[in-house]
Amino acid sequence: MKTTFVENPFLILIVDDEEFIRMQLRLALKREGYQIAEAQNGREALSLCQQLHPDIILLDAIMPDMDGFECCTQLQSLEFSQDIPVLMITGLDDQESVDKAFEVGAIDFVTKPIHWPVLRQRVKRLISQSQLQKLLQSANQELQRLVTIDQLTQVANRRRFEEYLNQEWQRMAREKLPISLIIGDVDFFKKYNDTYGHQLGDRCLQQVAQSIKNTIKRPADLVARYGGEEFAVILPNTEFEGSIILGRSICSVVRKLAIPHCNSPVGPYVTISAGVATLIPTPSSDWQKLIVLADKALYQAKTAGRDRVKYIPVGNSEL
Ligand code: GH3
Ligand code: MG
Ligand code: MG
Repeated sequence: MKTTFVENPFLILIVDDEEFIRMQLRLALKREGYQIAEAQNGREALSLCQQLHPDIILLDAIMPDMDGFECCTQLQSLEFSQDIPVLMITGLDDQESVDKAFEVGAIDFVTKPIHWPVLRQRVKRLISQSQLQKLLQSANQELQRLVTIDQLTQVANRRRFEEYLNQEWQRMAREKLPISLIIGDVDFFKKYNDTYGHQLGDRCLQQVAQSIKNTIKRPADLVARYGGEEFAVILPNTEFEGSIILGRSICSVVRKLAIPHCNSPVGPYVTISAGVATLIPTPSSDWQKLIVLADKALYQAKTAGRDRVKYIPVGNSEL
């Protein structure tokens, strides 16, 4: 697409059944430096949208077969096109057509015969609004990520852990299904820092977190950094037997990392101890209960010699 003008990177999809109108639009907008794609009907517009992801769609309201209103409805319902602004071009400026254009999701409209300075300004404004919205969306996503991820280990942080446990606890209560929790704690980690320094300590925590994450396969499971050198795994809809197997896998995977820990009484490598608890929540019960039990089991694993898993089975809670 060659123009002698300053090109701007934005792509406009023009959809109109009349070739003459398409040509007028193309010439006017190319003069502004836009990239142009054209479709003669609604169906072609949908397929071009999927291929090209235009920055804005100029859509004729009245077309044979699939009209602009129907096409706009479909564009709004499809994931690849729902965020693309649609400027409806209608021959009619009666209230019904204008209302209909907004109802099907058009962001604005212009009427035929086209008033070129108006079209030019609307296109410019709609593109810059939509660019701004994209920027805001990605900044928001990044913020969401930052507030839920632990910076050092890149697994979920404590805040996300509590939010997710609460959510899944309620869901399991509704479905009357078990939920399990594993809390793992690095053995003699204070000694590790004293021996190798804080920097290697951080590196060790990163490796441990990643190896736990790689052991967890189900999409609903969540690995989180629960505290300094403590990690937690939330396992919704997981029976107690399954979670113990997973607890053992985590311990074994960490041991197999073979990170030297020469001053650990259970060394020569870094190990973790884990506590596992499983409960079937009731709607009135509190998710903290599961943490208390897993913590208790972890304490038992520590006192029994570390580098092992202990568990408190379903129904065995005296809470
Ligand atoms: P135990 O086997 O009983 O768990 O002994 P421990 O030494 O691991 O337990 P303790 O709670 O006494 O010590 C935890 C240590 O973890 C102390 C703290 O400095 C270290 N730690 C906590 N967070 C971090 C971190 O982000 N980086 C590093 N390098 N060390 C951390
Ligand atoms: Mg520890
Ligand atoms: Mg600890």
